[in-house]
Amino acid sequence: MTTLLPPPLAETPALARLRADVRAFLDEQIAAGVFTPDVDTWLNGFHPDFTRSLAERGWLGMTIPAEYGGHGRSFLERFVVTEELLAAGAPVAAHWIADRQAAPSLLKYGTEEQKQRYLPRITAGELFWAIGMSEPDSGSDLASVRTRGERVEGGWRLTGTKVWTSGAHHAHAFFALARTAPLDPQHRHAGLSQFIVELDSPGVEIRPIRSMNGAHHFNEVHLEGVFVPDELVIGTIGDGWAQVTSELSYERSGPERFLSTYRLLAALAGRGLGDAETGAYVARLAGLHQMSSAVAGALEHHQDVSSAAAVVKVLGTALEGDVADLADRLTEDDPGDPELRALVARAVFHRPGFTLRGGTSEVLRGVIARELGLR
Ligand SMILES: Cc1cc2nc3c(=O)[nH]c(=O)nc-3n(C[C@H](O)[C@H](O)[C@H](O)COP(=O)(O)OP(=O)(O)OC[C@H]3O[C@@H](n4cnc5c(N)ncnc54)[C@H](O)[C@@H]3O)c2cc1C
Repeated sequence: MTTLLPPPLAETPALARLRADVRAFLDEQIAAGVFTPDVDTWLNGFHPDFTRSLAERGWLGMTIPAEYGGHGRSFLERFVVTEELLAAGAPVAAHWIADRQAAPSLLKYGTEEQKQRYLPRITAGELFWAIGMSEPDSGSDLASVRTRGERVEGGWRLTGTKVWTSGAHHAHAFFALARTAPLDPQHRHAGLSQFIVELDSPGVEIRPIRSMNGAHHFNEVHLEGVFVPDELVIGTIGDGWAQVTSELSYERSGPERFLSTYRLLAALAGRGLGDAETGAYVARLAGLHQMSSAVAGALEHHQDVSSAAAVVKVLGTALEGDVADLADRLTEDDPGDPELRALVARAVFHRPGFTLRGGTSEVLRGVIARELGLR
């Protein structure tokens, strides 16, 4: 049997208590009308006040050490909290990327000054982050990014365009992946670097890309000779590929990769609309919960989880889409429940993105196959 996946973990009484606390808080918030449970809220539910109320309870920056303003708790504790937030359909998009991937990347690769500058504000729910990887001609094949970093006195000048940048119009910063040495066809992953770009810097232009329903979620972020001082280089010049791969592990392995449409499954069950297929999806969900929590445990021990994260994402995002389709089928002839139909419509709208964002399923299957030595 392959060791592709870390071994499953049992939930301790302390974790169960934490889970119950988060659930009780969320029930209160729903009852008080702070939010209405929705689908895909980790990317589309922007609610800075709710983010700050999570911060007040110590549920942001959980894995950040106390010396940087964080709570020094485990990845498993963070897993429990995030799983409950997502299962409740809570609006967590404001802080999601900062808490999920910017913070661990800063801890792993950042300088002392960078950690002090950003981590306390991430923990306080005041600093939002975006992802500066994709470009107009560069998505799956990130090594082909064309954003250039040129050495100048005291730092680097970045020129290029990032695209599909979720929430950049709300974010304070992103890590921009840029080419700092010419592309060598024999070593395509060499010569890449990551920079912290504060999005209010001169030369940054954030242009909205409207979705088909008119919503403003995506952006194109144009960098026109943006000066990044040396102190905002993250990690090592030339090591951008290894850094971005590590960041993607945090991005791909969490419960947001199988719970984006959980509210629909809960709504179907709650209204007695489920069928045998619903039961089958709940079984898939149970397996994904085990796998994703096992990855959280492995992150705790600084293990390489890139292939395990790919497994979670391939299986989890397929389930999210299947749930949207099932709910659509089971409710299409029922005009008597407009609230549920509206929830279904939003899930169906977001569905195409589930298997694309964070790396497409086709590409991730290749990652898994390579790990197994299949190609
Ligand atoms: C909702 C959403 C939010 C996003 N947010 C962000 C963000 O905040 N920041 C950011 O940087 N990016 C973001 N993205 C972009 C996302 O990461 C890319 O869409 C994704 O990586 C695919 O890249 P692409 O769109 O350029 O498609 P391409 O890479 O052009 O792929 C096109 C098709 O070819 C297939 N393909 C490509 N290469 C291979 C291969 N080697 N083997 C098999 N098939 C292959 C793909 O699976 C896909 O079906 C977001 C995307 C979505 C949908």
